[in-house]
Order: sequence, then C-alpha cells, then structure tokens
Amino acid sequence: MTDSDDAGEPGYDAAFVRRWLIRTADVVELEAGHLTELDSPIGDADHGSNLQRGFRAVRAALDQGPPDTPGGVLVLAGRQLISTVGGASGPLYGTLLRRAGKALGDAERVGTGELQDALRAGVAAVAQLGGAAVGDKTMLDALVPAVEALGDSPAAAREAAERGALGTVPLQARKGRASYLGERSIGHQDPGAASSALLIAALAETAA
Ligand code: ADP
Ligand code: MG
Repeated sequence: MTDSDDAGEPGYDAAFVRRWLIRTADVVELEAGHLTELDSPIGDADHGSNLQRGFRAVRAALDQGPPDTPGGVLVLAGRQLISTVGGASGPLYGTLLRRAGKALGDAERVGTGELQDALRAGVAAVAQLGGAAVGDKTMLDALVPAVEALGDSPAAAREAAERGALGTVPLQARKGRASYLGERSIGHQDPGAASSALLIAALAETAA
C-alpha cells in the first residue's frame, strides 16, 4: 500500500467499534418508546424494551473491560444481545454482530472494505438463522441495502438503511410475529428495520 492509499482509507479500531455500539445504546435509550410503538400494531409491543435490555448489557460489558480488537468488541456485544434479549431480535442482532466480529478475526485495525465484508457475513448469518430474505418486512430490508452501500461510504449506508426501513411500510410481513397478521401487516413500518436503521445511523455518525 502506498502512502497516499494510507491517507485515503479510513481505518476502524476497537475504540471506534466501542464508540459505535455505545452510541447505538444511547440512541436505543432515546428511541425505545418509538420502537415499541412500531411493534404495537404488528407485534407485541416489546421491541424497544428488548433492545434497551440488550444494549444496556452491551454497555455494561464494554465498560467492564473492552476487548482490544474491533472483532473482539463485536463478538462480546453480540454475545450480550443473545444472552439477555428474550425476543426474536436478540438472537438475530446478536448473530449479526458476533458473526461480523468473527469475520474480522484478530486484526487491530480494519478498513471499510473489511468492515463491509464482515457485516455482509453477519447479515447472511441473520438471513440463515431467521430464514428471511429482502422483501419479507424484517430488519434485512434495512441491513442488506445498507451493507451494500457501505462500499460507497458510511453516510450512503445510513441513507440506504433509512430508505429500506421506510420501504417496509407497504410490504406484507412474511417472517416473525408480524406475519401472523397477513395482509393486516401492510401499512406499518417494521420495528426491526427501524432499529437497524438506527444502528447504521450510529455507525455513520461515529465515522463522521
Ligand atoms: P419479537 O418478535 O420476538 O417480539 P422483537 O419485537 O424484539 O421480537 O423484534 C421484532 C423484529 O425482529 C421484527 O420487526 C423483525 O425486524 C425482526 N425479525 C423477526 N423475525 C425475523 C426473522 N425470521 N428474520 C429476520 N428478522 C426477523
Ligand atoms: Mg416484539
């Protein structure tokens, strides 16, 4: 790599990933009520409280002794979400972060391309665990386009996630609790897609 490449390529270290997840935890505190409201008409009104519990545990674990690699931070956070959130979203978000962390391995600093590849692996693991695809009105409708747009920039990823989350409104749910409603799930935003957009917005804000 030449010096000019070095200058142009943003790098992400453990401290960056920690700031990203703490910012997400902050936003989850602020938006928990709204996320639970979204989960009322097409779910069981617990998405905000589920994520609040999960990200409080993430914050506590990162305060205790943050790992010194980006992968280690993601794996630790993923494990907290899996073990503390009872709803579907805990294991799904936990899998996203844990798998992404494992994909990063022991690297102390990673570039945008590596972060994108790792998150892509995480998103694929979420799709496999939940059996959902884009268009099923789930978190994947925000995460999949976001990860693809991350190749352009974190800001582009944020825009793609927000567009994807809003795009769930006219969809009929085919996975998760909302799918029990059939056509009555149409006309409401998916709560998990909305929270995924918050996660990606926090990434973009941390990178800015
Ligand atoms: P629960 O549905 O158990 O109450 P939450 O309310 O915390 O859990 O999370 C609901 C969100 O989880 C949904 O809005 C959706 O985005 C996501 N979700 C549910 N099932 C799946 C699935 N099979 N694949 C992907 N995402 C899913
Ligand atoms: Mg719910």
